[in-house]
Amino acid sequence: MNGNIGYYDRKIECMPRSEMEVLQGERLKEIVKRVYETVPRYRAKMDAIKLKPSDINSLEDISKLPFTEKQDLRDSYPYGMFSAPIKDIVRLHASSATTGKLTVVGYTKKDLDIWAEAVARCLVMTGATPESIVHVAYGYGLFTGGLGMHYGIEKLGATAVPVSSGNTQKQLQLLQDFGPEIICCTPSYAIYLAEAMKEEGVDPASLKLRAGIFGAEPWSEAMRQAIESKLHIKAYDIYGLSEICGPGVACECEMQKGMHINEDHYFPEILDADTLEPIYEDNEEGELVFTTLTKEGIPLIRYRTHDLASVTREKCECGRTLVRLNKISGRTDDMLIIRGVNVFPSQIESVLLKCVGVEPHYHIYVDRVNNLDTLEIHVEMSEKLFSDEAKVVEQLREKLTADIASAIGVHAKIKLVSPRTLPRSEGKAKHTTDYRKGKI
Ligand code: ADP
Ligand code: ZN
Repeated sequence: MNGNIGYYDRKIECMPRSEMEVLQGERLKEIVKRVYETVPRYRAKMDAIKLKPSDINSLEDISKLPFTEKQDLRDSYPYGMFSAPIKDIVRLHASSATTGKLTVVGYTKKDLDIWAEAVARCLVMTGATPESIVHVAYGYGLFTGGLGMHYGIEKLGATAVPVSSGNTQKQLQLLQDFGPEIICCTPSYAIYLAEAMKEEGVDPASLKLRAGIFGAEPWSEAMRQAIESKLHIKAYDIYGLSEICGPGVACECEMQKGMHINEDHYFPEILDADTLEPIYEDNEEGELVFTTLTKEGIPLIRYRTHDLASVTREKCECGRTLVRLNKISGRTDDMLIIRGVNVFPSQIESVLLKCVGVEPHYHIYVDRVNNLDTLEIHVEMSEKLFSDEAKVVEQLREKLTADIASAIGVHAKIKLVSPRTLPRSEGKAKHTTDYRKGKI
């Protein structure tokens, strides 16, 4: 156990639960009033169930409020859900899908400040101090990972190394030369880096690296052990999603017993995945739903993440009272995360529907080979294409490969199969086989 635990904001992070709930209740009232007055979509949703902002008086009243879905953001693309005028928005981010159905989020100056503070708290949870050098290998750009971590590091007064993703050779060089104490990237990239070090003859034990902050995709305890032993570091889990802010919604402390949620800004609920009724018991799993309590750019009320998880409200050994999120165990929808990119089977389906020569019968195989996610899609040919020359078939396969890559942002190997050979399902179609489960 670390005998010298610091906090970024002791008052908030160690606040008695009753006080935290009062604060959350007050902020909830404010944010509901704000969205009712500024976002027509929220007003319409509340009017439809005859709910007025004055009906929300404390935290318990949250269950009266309607949910928000990713579809709400898509339907109001790009700025329809914004609660602040564009002149007050100082940054935009968007989720990683590259189709026209991006989910766009906007931040005011205050939003960026709070987000940076949330990330700074996370860094301190993992033992960072203003003296730390932090290597950021998350992508910089529309994706929230890189810039999100970056501003948190600066907020703390630590040193950011904005390497961004890719270029493994350079990453290895800088890890040796700049001597960072902490690395931030996806857990699968951490494993990849460890392998690359082995190949290049770099001894992880010779580096100053002490910890890694890994997120943006689900990972198991087995993966944690593998990363920790391969890289000789402590591996911490960080959770976030662009709709709520990006990385920094929650992060593990040095106890590694769940991720403390920055719940004074991002209020979590766990709901029964079938009935959507609130679950109040600790460690009982359900769908994770967030309400942003202080956001101005695009506040979200009861946003359904579709992530499955549980929380525990018990005070942590680190002294923090912030509720802890247990590891994300799965999803309630069919979203896949492939090399950090969110992919929905429906995106692939819509490309197939537009393509003459193939049927919208397909099956997606996801695997992890040499520590990298692979994607292969089997698609049925039409009878006509099946009887065509091989050259025509190959041309279509190439076109489909390009169209799918541009729709989902990830390269997939496309295999065209004979008509009526893929299994048909009678109920809800099962389009995916994920061989990564159980693998590290
Ligand atoms: P992206 O980060 O790819 O731009 P999002 O912000 O929408 O897109 O991705 C958020 C999703 O990523 C979460 O809803 C969750 O499914 C997944 N995710 C993020 N961090 C973690 C984590 N630490 N563990 C498991 N899943 C995570
Ligand atoms: Zn803790």
